[in-house]
Amino acid sequence: MTYFAVFFYIALTIIRVLTSGDAIRRERKFAIVTGTMIWVIAAIVQFFNNEILLFAMAVTLMILFIYLSFENPKEHFDEDTGTLNKRTFHLMLNDQYDSNKPLLVVSVVMDDLLPIQSVIGHDNVNRLLEQVANQMQLLFSNFVYHSRNNVLSLLLHEPLDEINLKLSQLETYLDQTFKVAQYSFVAKFHIDIIKTKTVKESCDEIYELMNYITAHHQSINGQKIYLLNEAIISQKQRHLTIERMLHDAINHDGLTVVYQPIYDVAKKCFRSAEALVRLTDTQTIGFISPEEFIIIAERKGLIMDLGRIVFEKVCAFSATHQLYNEALDYIEVNLSGIQCVHPDLPRQLETIMKRYDIPPAFLNLEITETASVESGEMLDRNMIDLRKLGCSFSMDDFGTGYSNLSKMSEVVYDLVKIDKSLIWPCFTENNEKSLAILKNMINMLLELNVKIVAEGIETKEMQDFLVAQNITYLQGYFFSRPIPEEEFLHFLDCQPE
Ligand code: C2E
Ligand code: MG
Ligand code: MG
Repeated sequence: MTYFAVFFYIALTIIRVLTSGDAIRRERKFAIVTGTMIWVIAAIVQFFNNEILLFAMAVTLMILFIYLSFENPKEHFDEDTGTLNKRTFHLMLNDQYDSNKPLLVVSVVMDDLLPIQSVIGHDNVNRLLEQVANQMQLLFSNFVYHSRNNVLSLLLHEPLDEINLKLSQLETYLDQTFKVAQYSFVAKFHIDIIKTKTVKESCDEIYELMNYITAHHQSINGQKIYLLNEAIISQKQRHLTIERMLHDAINHDGLTVVYQPIYDVAKKCFRSAEALVRLTDTQTIGFISPEEFIIIAERKGLIMDLGRIVFEKVCAFSATHQLYNEALDYIEVNLSGIQCVHPDLPRQLETIMKRYDIPPAFLNLEITETASVESGEMLDRNMIDLRKLGCSFSMDDFGTGYSNLSKMSEVVYDLVKIDKSLIWPCFTENNEKSLAILKNMINMLLELNVKIVAEGIETKEMQDFLVAQNITYLQGYFFSRPIPEEEFLHFLDCQPE
């Protein structure tokens, strides 16, 4: 009976190790396999030599082995959601990644974690994630990891076509109205899938790719299930290249500033300009728009340096040609949302203006509407300090952000720049609504006594219409594209007096 029981247990252990091998960590597997082998050998030896009491010693050894490989299970659990935690996810990914079998990392990402958290509270978000994790476990019969704040992941060894059905069931499940405590709501999820070994990557790269597609899937396309493919990898490569180019440009004078003249309707000439940054390197991957590289600079912590260089170049150019003596009234310089809330910004700009002896009133700082709504107190403080020095401010891209109209009553901007996306639709068919919005917006701004710049003026028709609306300044390709310093000086010289 004893031997039968022993063999039964051994067989069970072996089967268990073989069937759930993927879920067991390598050290633990090694301990179990070695321990079991010692046990089997001891059992066989003892079977033939009944007088040696080897078996008991083997059992002790096996228990010791397994004991040494024990870990505190609490270390692996995420108590908030009842799933396995981030640390375990990393351990298992490293383990299974090395096992050379193709591996699918399937992640359910909750896109609107923060807004939902602010409505239903932190604890209830955890209940929601727990519900989703249970469903994932049920569908895929596999462990679920809370691999990042708003991400639940599975590590699967099945081929992708075999899990398609389960994936679409999961997708349907995620679309439902969730009920947590007294709240019913729909949450926004998407599913990222990374198939390893299809591309040459290391384990670290998988984490990076996971982060990357989570952050960028919306900008790439709006699908719900998102499979990592060559396009994303090359886009990520492009971002890395741009990041490297930015580092180079910042360290080796690879940035230039171009100027787009701004037309003064009353004076009928160009009395100001907007400074726009460009990367000098247009060889590596062609021309890169600042719309693309500014975001990368912001994400990679390079924007303060970039902003400083642009500001310095504008000051140097203005000083060299004494632009503030008659040639121009002011130059507009764009500030990124991150610069706006940097406690060091006023001091940084003041130092540069002093170095080049530029009157601060010559510089108008553009802050986007989105940054102005999102930035809060730090921006207010910076604006007060800079205003004390004499700088003025423009609200850029008006009409594209949150249009916080209540805030407009405390207008702290000298200029408001109406974005081209509000202007262009007025010059298409069925433009009644766009016209109504634009006209009323202009009237509101005029009543608030701010000066208006209309951006993106490309035709005579646009110019005539906006002049009729009493707009103060016009900017756009109709007058001039952004041009390099020398060309800009020539442009100013040639304008009619
Ligand atoms: P923005 O500040 O709204 O600048 C206006 C953009 O509209 C410029 O694009 C300009 O070339 C373009 N534009 C002007 N008139 C026309 C037109 O008639 N038609 C068309 N299609 N486009 C027109 P650019 O230079 O590519 O800059 C894009 C954005 O990048 C800027 O938008 C600004 O948000 C950002 N940016 C540019 N330079 C800097 C900078 O030095 N610092 C920061 N933080 N952001 C910058
Ligand atoms: Mg601007
Ligand atoms: Mg703009």
